[in-house]
Amino acid sequence: MPTKTTTPSKCPACAHDLVLLEAGALSWCSACRWNLDVYDPALAPWRGTRMIGRWGFRRGLEVDRAAHEQLLADPEARPAGTSSGEVWLLAASVVLALLGLAAAGYLVWLVVASDLPPGVRLAMAIPAVLILLLVKPSFGRVPKYGVITEREAPQLHRLVREVADAAGTPVPDVICADLSLNAGVARLGWRQRSVLVIGIPLWVMLPRPARASLLAHELGHLANGDPLRVRRTLLARTFGARAVAATGGRNPWRRAIRAADSLAEQGRGTVVLLGMIVHGIVALANVAAATAQLLVDSVAMPDSRHAEYRADLVARRVAGSAPFLRSSETVLLAGRIWQDLWHLAPRIDGEQLEAMAAEARQRLAAHLPLARQLSRRTTDLWSTHPSEDQRMALIEALPGVDGAVCVDDIRWAEIDTELAPWRRTAHNALLGTRDRF
Ligand SMILES: [Zn+2]
Ligand SMILES: [Zn+2]
Repeated sequence: MPTKTTTPSKCPACAHDLVLLEAGALSWCSACRWNLDVYDPALAPWRGTRMIGRWGFRRGLEVDRAAHEQLLADPEARPAGTSSGEVWLLAASVVLALLGLAAAGYLVWLVVASDLPPGVRLAMAIPAVLILLLVKPSFGRVPKYGVITEREAPQLHRLVREVADAAGTPVPDVICADLSLNAGVARLGWRQRSVLVIGIPLWVMLPRPARASLLAHELGHLANGDPLRVRRTLLARTFGARAVAATGGRNPWRRAIRAADSLAEQGRGTVVLLGMIVHGIVALANVAAATAQLLVDSVAMPDSRHAEYRADLVARRVAGSAPFLRSSETVLLAGRIWQDLWHLAPRIDGEQLEAMAAEARQRLAAHLPLARQLSRRTTDLWSTHPSEDQRMALIEALPGVDGAVCVDDIRWAEIDTELAPWRRTAHNALLGTRDRF
């Protein structure tokens, strides 16, 4: 059936052909960026409702614009002590902690001092137990699998130390590898030790100098005042996620409807009604917790965004402008490169991964301009990082610099040798996932 389209195919501003990813999506102009910065529900992160999603998308753009202006005016600016975002999260943490203490005190009173019948006491204890579960701090665990000790990889540890020195940040307590297309730092365990996680697939894809840039960005987080990474704000940062998990995770309404359906099949009027009410309350609590967490976070996000850009500026200073831009480009292509390696995997071994990834990076470079623009549509206020396009634009707007840390090819080769078992593991992962498709 022929369909008549009313959407323009030429840019009204510059007459260039428009980009249309899929029917019904919002097209934009890749030449002059007309209509690029619009909320596109098909691409933007899902935040429960469109209204919240749209607000978060627009607010994200505002926050990024303000951060750019400020950092371009003074790239060397250091965070001024405690940020307002941190104060806010701290206050929310204190309220949650007090709530927890009150619930604990109430429980003690129920058990020790009250002379109500046991059944009534049990019923009265339930809300307090729920509150305690909600505010109980969860510290996360330092992973046991994947830890790379200094004995196993002395050169990698030396590089991380040098990057930390140049960045002016503490050295992470633990270095870990995993099989993600990612890297990160986190504070984990009840001692909140700093853990640097290196996703080996991403590491393998990165040109060598860009690896130093990646490390510098991550280590930059250990000293840049990101309110979302400070120990003191843990309670406020995690209560929503915990409540959402406790009430069943994502898609609460779909789950409630399904549960109601299966109850209805079993019959028995009052039981069905009661079950529906319980499932409805759980779903409501789920949505309320997710929304509350988004609201709490949204106040802290401007400071967090600043911290991300500052970590990028650290990467520029430590590793240089060009390696930073190469690392961003690799991140933009990472999914496609991994797909290419997946096709090649049966014909190569772990040692060839790096060369093959470099070839794929070259071959796929034509996708970069569009992937870069697209990253703006997939980022909003609550995304962990600004879009790659915005991050690259900040570094491009500043004068190009060489990095402070220089690593020669001999040392890179030594680090490669230390990580050889991990390349084999990544190769096995590529082979292993083949049967699933
Ligand atoms: Zn145009
Ligand atoms: Zn970051």
